[in-house]
This record gives sequence, C-alpha cells and structure tokens, in this order.
Amino acid sequence: MSLQSQAILAGVDAATTVHRMLRTEESAVERSSPYIDVFGAIDELAVPLYFAPLDNLLGACIREHGPAVGIVVTSRRRLHIQRFTAAHELGHFVLEHEGSLDREILTPWSSRKDPRETAADSFAAEFLIPNWLLTMVAQQHAWWDSSRLSDPGTVYQLSLRLGASYSATCWALGAHSILPVPTAAELSKVPPRKLKKELLPSGFEPPHGWADVWKITDRDHGRKIMASPEDILVLDLAESAAAGYLWEVDDSNVPVVRIVHDHSAIDFDRIGAATRRHLLLEISERSPDSRIALRHHRAFDKSDSLGSLSLIACTSGAHPEGEFRGSN
Ligand SMILES: [Zn+2]
Repeated sequence: MSLQSQAILAGVDAATTVHRMLRTEESAVERSSPYIDVFGAIDELAVPLYFAPLDNLLGACIREHGPAVGIVVTSRRRLHIQRFTAAHELGHFVLEHEGSLDREILTPWSSRKDPRETAADSFAAEFLIPNWLLTMVAQQHAWWDSSRLSDPGTVYQLSLRLGASYSATCWALGAHSILPVPTAAELSKVPPRKLKKELLPSGFEPPHGWADVWKITDRDHGRKIMASPEDILVLDLAESAAAGYLWEVDDSNVPVVRIVHDHSAIDFDRIGAATRRHLLLEISERSPDSRIALRHHRAFDKSDSLGSLSLIACTSGAHPEGEFRGSN
C-alpha cells in the first residue's frame, strides 16, 4: 500500500473514532440536523478555536508545548470553507501531527506530497461526510440511486444539504463506494459555477458569483438548511392560478429572504389550467434560526389553502472574527 493510501486510511479511521467518541450520529438524529457540527466537536474536545482575519492562510493547528493546542480558522471565507478548514485542522490535532499552517486545503485525491496533509484532508472529508449521513440525506431527498448520484446537479444539491464542498462530496461518493472512484473523480471536474448557472433563468445574474444556488423541492419541507447571505433559493411550484390560488411568501416572521425573480408559465404537463410559478429568493438577512414559509392559498381568502412549503433556515453564514464560544 502506498504512503498516500495509508494516509487516507489513517484519516478515515481517526474520523470514525472521533464520531464514535462524540456520538455524532445519535446527536445528528436527535437534532434532526443533516450537518456535522464540526466547531462544536472541536469545542467538545476542549481545543480552543479562534476565527481570525488570516492573510494567505485558511487555517492553522498550533501546538506549542506538549498538549497545548489551538485551532485558528480564517474569518474571510465562506462557511463551508471554514467548516472544511476546521475539520482539516481537527485532523492534524487528532492525528497528533506537529503544528500546521495551511494555505490550501484539498480533497484527499489531489496529489499531495506530504502524507500528513493527505491524512488531514481525508479526516476532514470523512468527518463532515460520513457514509451514514450521506446515505440519510440522499434518501431524504429521493436521490439514493446511482443514476441520480451520477448527475453533477444532484451532487451539488447534496453537497449544500451536507454543508460540504462539491468536490469533497464527490470524493465521499467514491470513498464510500456509492459510485465507482473514476466516476466520482470525473464528476468532481464539473465546475460548480456551471451547475449554479443551469438553475437560473437566462439573463439572471446572482449578485455574487460565490453565492450558492439551492433548488428547493417539497423534500426540503420541514427540514433545516444552512444557507449564507446572498445565496439564491430556486422554487418551481405547481400553481392553480385559474382557480385563484397563488403561492405567496409568508413574511409574518423576520423576513430573511427577498424575491428577486417571479415568473409564471402554463404547465403543459398537467391537465387543466395549471401554471408553474418560478420564484427566486435571495437570502437577505443573517439569522441563526428562521422560518422561510410559502403558502399556496386564495389571494382573497387566505384561510383557503392548497398547501405550504416551509424550511428552517440558518442564514448566519461565515463565523465572524473572534473566539468560538460553543454551539447553539
Ligand atoms: Zn494541513
């Protein structure tokens, strides 16, 4: 076995051990959350965690004398990069590596020279996307078959529900033998910006190229998503407009979204005068726990409803500068 393969196995084994020790699976099921709380795990292991405006660094694991350690993560990148960086630095800590300064953090199949970096990369990918979590989320969204999971658009949506990057999710699909490794490697070459663009109407430009684009379906109903400010939620809803029913965003709570595109079209796939309502919602406010709800009701009698769609959204985005003081 090559040094790189040994390093990947060491990272995966260590991540599995930490999951068992912290009872992460039980906790994820209890919290009904599809996201591994990596910052909470670092806190639980009593490792100080800081977010700092690092220049030219994503993160560091600082080990000075004996067991004294701390993890530093940049405050200047998006949440999913902060999460992967924190998991990578946790990998260095758990694998008892000497201190690290990381300018780039990659998926485990990139050709790293240093096996310690490969091990920390594979720890991070396995820790954030264990097989049980990937399976659970894919089943919840009816993506659990190899033809669906070979579709890059589906894998991108899966990565958002896991709070992981697109490339790390591709790696996990191969590592857990859900897809053949060459298929997963091929998928990882598709640029996420192309997948985002496919979901947006022609001519619509999101305000920021880094924003993620979520395709929301009825499978998201009642579930939690972790979106960031400027992310776009895409909804394509069957609407009975001829009978007077319209979809409307419920803004009775703190509004965390604003409508940036609204279009109706005849639905030729359905009998009768059904229409499709195409809505784009942009996350416009930061909030740790908000409800985004839409109701399909009569405009003149809102108690007459044909259905609803609601999500619990954490829209706080990236952790700001400062010491981490425990998960909510
Ligand atoms: Zn590293």
